[in-house]
Amino acid sequence: RAKERGRNRWELHRPAASDPAVDRLRALGELRRGIGEGALRVHYQPRIDLHTGRASGVEALVRWQHPTRGLLPPSEFIAMAEESGLVRPLGAWVLDETLKLAESLRRDDRHGAGLEFAVNLSARQLNDPGLVDMVESALERRNLDPALLLLEITETALMSDPGAAVESLAALKNLGVGLAVDDFGTGYSSLTYLKKFPINELKIDRSFIMGLGLDSGDAAIVGSCIDLAHAVGIRAVAEGVETSGQAQTLQDMGCDLAQGYLFARPLPEPRLREWLASHT
Ligand code: C2E
Ligand code: MG
Ligand code: MG
Ligand code: MG
Repeated sequence: RAKERGRNRWELHRPAASDPAVDRLRALGELRRGIGEGALRVHYQPRIDLHTGRASGVEALVRWQHPTRGLLPPSEFIAMAEESGLVRPLGAWVLDETLKLAESLRRDDRHGAGLEFAVNLSARQLNDPGLVDMVESALERRNLDPALLLLEITETALMSDPGAAVESLAALKNLGVGLAVDDFGTGYSSLTYLKKFPINELKIDRSFIMGLGLDSGDAAIVGSCIDLAHAVGIRAVAEGVETSGQAQTLQDMGCDLAQGYLFARPLPEPRLREWLASHT
């Protein structure tokens, strides 16, 4: 088509400001500066123990306070951070910030004792040879029990290089930290690998939780994920629980933990402390 044929030439005359490559470079520079200048934020979403109804921990979720665009969700910058390698300093910062909160809650807050802290890792971080040292020194810096840290890795990241993932996970496991498979059901993991990974938890993807009560197929998938987790001796966690009907069904199915807007949205630290004070 004419448009296709003309594209390259037109590209040359486009103003640099709207060139996607230039936009990307600019965004990357902004993110690099943002990380250096303290523009990242961590919000924490409570995780509820469905057996007791109490908060058992929180998941750390990063945001970027952009100078002009406001508070940006990870979907706006994590992929770029992954591709550029910036996810390394970003991930190290999120972990340290979260463990700082863990330390402070453990020391001076009667509502925070024993809580678990879940932090997301990207595929790029999983393949980083410095990852284990980074995690170990972060734990030592805050003098924290490694068992209170849970690292979440998406099923897709695990399956992108399962052999390498098994090794990284084993090394992390050796530190004593817990491991979770995030967004479970969206990738293509075989049961063989699931058995090889030294994991503690399956987090069932929100897309299946959404169908509970609406779609019998989704209910069957969620039920089998829970049974599968229990069959291999690990916990089942539901993400994205929005209705009390979903929570009831999950409880009836024996799901161990749940997260979602029904219980709490991801909260900035001061609001998390308030939430914990009234829910523990
Ligand atoms: P995730 O780890 O699967 O996190 C769950 C996402 O679902 C979060 O989105 C959370 O805010 C959202 N969510 C929780 N409950 C509900 C609910 O009831 N309904 C709906 N509609 N959504 C709910 P968020 O914060 O935008 O994060 C998106 C993804 O970005 C995360 O998915 C995770 O994969 C990634 N991410 C977040 N923080 C980090 C980080 O520090 N490092 C890395 N590498 N990735 C991160
Ligand atoms: Mg997660
Ligand atoms: Mg998830
Ligand atoms: Mg998810």
